[in-house]
Amino acid sequence: MGYKKPSFIENIAEKIGIIPNLHKDKYQEFEGDMRHFTDEEVAQMYENFPPPEKWDNWVEYNPKVWPKKEKKTYQIVPTTCFNCESACGLTAFIDKETQEVKKFEGNPYHPGSRGRNCAKGPATINQVTDPDRILFPLKRKGKRGDGEWERVSWDDALDTIATRIRKAIKEERQNEIAYHVGRPGNEKFMNWILQGWGIDGHNSHTNICSSGARFGYNLWYGYDRPSPDHANAKFILLISAHLESGHYFNPHAQRIIEGKMKGAKLATMDPRLSNTASMSDYWLPTYPGTEAAVLLAMALIILKEELYNRDYLENWTNWKEYLEARHSDKEVTFENYIAAMIEEYKDFTPEFAENESGVKAETVVEIARQIGEAGERFASHNWRAAGASNLGGWAVARCLHFLTVLTGAVGAKGGTSPNSWNKFKPTQPNPPAPQKVWNELHFPKEYPLAFFEMSQLLPHFLKEGRGKMDVYFSRVFNPVWTYPDGFTWMEMFQDESKFGLHAALTPTWSETAFYADFVLPMGLASERHDLNSYATHGGTWVAFRQPVLREAARRNGNPVELTYQANPGEVWEEDEFFIELSWRIDPDGSMGIRKHFESPYRPGEKITIDEYYQYIFERIKGLNEVAKSDGFTGQFAALEYMKKYGAYEIEKGESYKMNEKLLTEEQLKGTTVDAKTNVITKKGKGIGVMINGKAMVGFPTPSRKNEFYSQTMVDWKWPEYATPSYIKSHIHNDVLDKTKGEYVLVPTFRLPTLIHSRSGNAKWLVEISNRNPIWMHPDDAAKWGFKTGDLVKMNTDIGYFIDKVWVTQGMKPGVVACSHHIGRWRRPQDKIGNRWATNTVDIQSDGKGGWKMNTLSGIKPFESKDSDSKRIFWKDGGVHQNITHAVHPDPISGMHTWHQRVRIEKPAEGEKYGDIFVDTNKSHEVYKEWLSWTRPAPGPNGERRPLWFNRAFTPDKSEGGCYYINDDKKDK
Ligand code: SF4
Repeated sequence: MGYKKPSFIENIAEKIGIIPNLHKDKYQEFEGDMRHFTDEEVAQMYENFPPPEKWDNWVEYNPKVWPKKEKKTYQIVPTTCFNCESACGLTAFIDKETQEVKKFEGNPYHPGSRGRNCAKGPATINQVTDPDRILFPLKRKGKRGDGEWERVSWDDALDTIATRIRKAIKEERQNEIAYHVGRPGNEKFMNWILQGWGIDGHNSHTNICSSGARFGYNLWYGYDRPSPDHANAKFILLISAHLESGHYFNPHAQRIIEGKMKGAKLATMDPRLSNTASMSDYWLPTYPGTEAAVLLAMALIILKEELYNRDYLENWTNWKEYLEARHSDKEVTFENYIAAMIEEYKDFTPEFAENESGVKAETVVEIARQIGEAGERFASHNWRAAGASNLGGWAVARCLHFLTVLTGAVGAKGGTSPNSWNKFKPTQPNPPAPQKVWNELHFPKEYPLAFFEMSQLLPHFLKEGRGKMDVYFSRVFNPVWTYPDGFTWMEMFQDESKFGLHAALTPTWSETAFYADFVLPMGLASERHDLNSYATHGGTWVAFRQPVLREAARRNGNPVELTYQANPGEVWEEDEFFIELSWRIDPDGSMGIRKHFESPYRPGEKITIDEYYQYIFERIKGLNEVAKSDGFTGQFAALEYMKKYGAYEIEKGESYKMNEKLLTEEQLKGTTVDAKTNVITKKGKGIGVMINGKAMVGFPTPSRKNEFYSQTMVDWKWPEYATPSYIKSHIHNDVLDKTKGEYVLVPTFRLPTLIHSRSGNAKWLVEISNRNPIWMHPDDAAKWGFKTGDLVKMNTDIGYFIDKVWVTQGMKPGVVACSHHIGRWRRPQDKIGNRWATNTVDIQSDGKGGWKMNTLSGIKPFESKDSDSKRIFWKDGGVHQNITHAVHPDPISGMHTWHQRVRIEKPAEGEKYGDIFVDTNKSHEVYKEWLSWTRPAPGPNGERRPLWFNRAFTPDKSEGGCYYINDDKKDK
């Protein structure tokens, strides 16, 4: 690497304007530019990070008073970032004098992020010091949603909520209690809590996020997420606007670049020139929803040109089952398998792929060959994007994994492993048994294959009287703003017969918190305990998020009992809150709840947060020994090690081909081997498979192999999708009427500096990205007569929003796009919050389902303790587009399919930027229309859901129990 000076020809071309002059400001010649440093020098820089032995007393100059040389002494405490799921390492620099956190930097001891962060990591300091943050528990006064609040104590909040939960459980209304999570984390903590209460009370945001692709992966191999080994790959294919530019951003991005520096080629499929696409060797701007057609065309080329991995296909796919089910007239031979696949996909020619997607046929061929040549070193990922946007979007991930299977790259070095191979699972104290109830408000009969809770339909279920929420926790979760159809959420939240008590656990004000009964301030990255482990590469790590001021106080000899005693105001954390709540629900232990939350070290006493984590950490392979060798010897050695370094690497990057792990003699005791399938079964459950005479673990599918043919899809009434398929999207070109101005709107991408609801209080991030115009190709803009900045009216199925146009070549012609994460709002009556990012709006309801929102004012400078708040120069807070979207649940995966059919028009006289209208009657009709496409449970034997599918917070699976539909007593 290194800076490349412009050539003589480039110099001339730049001067006469043939190409843009990229060198005029001499930026790249700046002496401090990283590109001048060798790899060794860069490595040295990380070594220059304060060494851990100096973390309690680190002295450096205060940059704010430069050129004056003023020394500052810091205490450095590690934690992990909370601003996306990656959980990169952070180190908090705490001023020793004032005991205030002054800044965050990376943590070089974190194996996932390795000292690096994206912009959102260091911006944690903005969130911590935000002048508008919520510092104390609040309870509503007046009517819900009216905007009046009073401060209450934690005791008041806990007692009120606990009393109500206790009553609901005692009256067997367990399904009226729910915990609905936006930003998760905290490996298995909430399973422990909710299952300890015996409720099926977990609801997640995953059906508006990533469940589509998860379903596609799961069908293949029983794991729902991939873990690409980018750094060792030869070819990387991403179907993602969200992963490498916003979600697993930093840990993956740095490894992609590592791979590229070693010669890997990168291709990105995205109708928009995302940050990732702009760094790619190939940008494939597919027409939205046609990605699977392109992938199947690539598969056909790999098959026809014999670029596939024969051994892998023969050993690790269920091809015999496929031939027997679909080609019973043919002999079961491997050659017939290949021939049948070629026949099955014969229509997926490169020309067909081009016709569907707009990507040139020769590019499809070129990439297919490169993937074939990369072989096992083919890394790929589909995160959100196409998998989260289209009717049948799950089929995109399924077709992508097909390429991984064909090349034998599943679990290979440089290939794509299952996510779970690289993820740590904690062992918790006093684990509760799975709950014996099934909550149909989360997993209704109509969606038996839904991979996660049908959370986007909750307000519609409540509206049509399927049940109620007596106690509802929203945790860092903002459906009024983040979800489609936010006005229906608003209607339901305002109705106390639908939501009895709503407690918003949140670090910041949100559009949903406005409609809560309690707003309970929860800690940011540096203010809470939490456990993280994510698949970032071929290794496994665990990281410890901790309240840094609490840890500093402990080190300084001033320990506190509860985290809120060390945090700003009375900001608390979920861990201690839920332990405390559980004790108050069952104070004398008579309900069988309290016992789960008693100390494993002090029988009968309440577990402390240190005990909870020590119990987990002391069971991690190798951690006790490492802690000991670092000088920690006491009862809490493992915990102390984690408090010091913030992370531990459990497996060092060689977790490959784990499906080939041999079953032990112990495991093989009492097993039988199916003569036909070679599946090894113990007590009726598959535990492995015989491969070439060896008993291997395999994959957690019925065949213990990759399932090219899915009997599950057949059994659950979708035989047409028994094999990887291309499903035409709800926004396929065929269904859009261009004469009426209909386009597809891509609303799924995020700008890489933003977080869903939590960048609203991060001034640096909002300064960088603060509006969300409609991306439009110059050809489309010319057709409409639009130029950048013109107003455009985007009519959806249930209403409209008015935005501005941004004319850019970074958009595929014929497609428009609008970023989410922008368009935040508050009403005049609401508590002031997120002023860096929120418009002030007026919301009017006609009482019959018609809702209007108008912007009263944009973003303005304001007086606060932060002098930067007076310097706000941006005025435009963007437009809330999601609220104008109807729910579109995929009838199979359950994923909300985000892409919208929109009718574009110029606004009428008097219509203004930011105007929004929605008719919630129409949104309920759209819900019913999509519901009518489902094929409800039961499946075989009365099952609600295939038993081999994982489910978050899995209920009891005993025969005749809640997992079976004929026991109506279990449905509440
Ligand atoms: S990628 Fe960025 S936002 Fe996500 S955890 Fe890492 S530093 Fe935080």
